[in-house]
Amino acid sequence: MRHTTFRFTLDPTPEQEALLARHAGASRFAYNQCLRFVSEALATRQINPSVTVPWSGFDLISAFNAWKRSENAGRVFIVAQDGMITKRSVGLRWRREVSAQVFEEAAVDLGRALAAYAKAKSVGLQGHRVGFPTPRRKGRCRDSFRLRNRIGWSGRCHIRIAEGHPRTVVLPVVGEIRVHDDTRRLRRLLRPVEQTEPSIQGSALAPRARILFATVARHGHRWLISLNVEAPDFHANRRHLSSTGGDNGFVGVDRGLAAFAVAATADGLEVGRFHAPKPLARRLRRIQRRAQAVSRSKRGSRNRAKAVRRLAREHARIANIRRHFLHEVSSQLAKTHGRLAIEDLATANLIRNRHLSRAIADAGWAELARQLAYKAAWCGGELVICDRWFASTKTCSACGTPKQQLGLAERTFQCSLCGLVMDRDTNAAANLAAWADALYMPAAQAPDRQAGGRVTNASGGEVLGVASMAPKPALTKEEPTLWRTPEPRTPEKGAVGRPYGGRPTGFTGAGTPTRR
Ligand SMILES: [Zn+2]
Repeated sequence: MRHTTFRFTLDPTPEQEALLARHAGASRFAYNQCLRFVSEALATRQINPSVTVPWSGFDLISAFNAWKRSENAGRVFIVAQDGMITKRSVGLRWRREVSAQVFEEAAVDLGRALAAYAKAKSVGLQGHRVGFPTPRRKGRCRDSFRLRNRIGWSGRCHIRIAEGHPRTVVLPVVGEIRVHDDTRRLRRLLRPVEQTEPSIQGSALAPRARILFATVARHGHRWLISLNVEAPDFHANRRHLSSTGGDNGFVGVDRGLAAFAVAATADGLEVGRFHAPKPLARRLRRIQRRAQAVSRSKRGSRNRAKAVRRLAREHARIANIRRHFLHEVSSQLAKTHGRLAIEDLATANLIRNRHLSRAIADAGWAELARQLAYKAAWCGGELVICDRWFASTKTCSACGTPKQQLGLAERTFQCSLCGLVMDRDTNAAANLAAWADALYMPAAQAPDRQAGGRVTNASGGEVLGVASMAPKPALTKEEPTLWRTPEPRTPEKGAVGRPYGGRPTGFTGAGTPTRR
């Protein structure tokens, strides 16, 4: 089983759009209310140490559910004919206007934020600093909410697609919403097919995939829905030969200076060169203009609101172009090459200069690495992250001699020892491939060349991690539980996504290689 995401652009009616916005508001409200429970409990614990602080998603859900029916959430005073005033608690009055799932998922989100905060505090995590969760503010945070796909009383799922019309999604409370995109690929996955069932010794009609979650979010001027789907593994024909099979070496992927990425094998053969799409540069200028328009307009004016909308739309478009490009590159690499080696992200950020466009490319690079990790796993391939101290750009890929001086402007690599002249990025990619070959290929299969100086270069290195090529353990029989909730990251429409359980293994930092 693999976990993937289908993303569609919603086409709601004005009434449905208002409902979506209300759900997003309810999600924000529940998050903030739960945060209030935590802060209040923390404050009272200063005086009374016996007070328990709701901390996990479960605690927060029960706290919120108890609160929403209580007097604190809402009460009315009824004046009788004889002047007697009685108080009646009604709870949160509008709670039935939205799906209760929204509250629960918001509580789960806060539970996760608290867990991340506690972890960062206890370990003293390097890198990103994780602060105590802050309230979500309207207009400052993304309008979004998540729903879990429950099975209703009738045995039908709450979240369904293509019931009446092929291009529709059904959500609880909101109902059937039209989508812009073609849903055929997801429909085919969800269609019941005959499956052999070992438990009942026969075959049964069951869909091959199921929807676990739906996340609805406003991006720019559009509402998008991401459906988190548990889908079967790729067919054997679409997977690379088993990890032992195939004597192809690694293919190194380096960030090019002129191109976005360059792929090459250990013997210096360039097998791929990817150029970032041009619209990006053009639209960046437009973004600057739109941002200026926002800052020049009067606060609170209609023109400002209009300018803000225009800017958001432009940002959303750029994000779409970039995401599409990254998915194309990562899919092509993962499909065509069974073994991939990329440089460590920290190095990539360290060495290069901090020009604006480079900073954007950095973000793209991290995302590419993330996508490569899970796509390689889907295709039965391998991904190796090279040691961060391995000077891939400054080493000759033919003889392994390190070079002292190599300016950023130098586009070709010239070796003073063996006279190799090669494109700078191809040389770096070839080095990455050779580094991974030397470490991971059985000695008999590795090219002879690798027995030379490079091995000494590489062996000192510590491997940061290898994306496992084994499929994730199947979770078919379980209901999706709260603590296993996959992060609803939202790739493009179509079958793309991330494997269950957060970051791919290749990026967990230091660790032993897990080659099987
Ligand atoms: Zn050389």
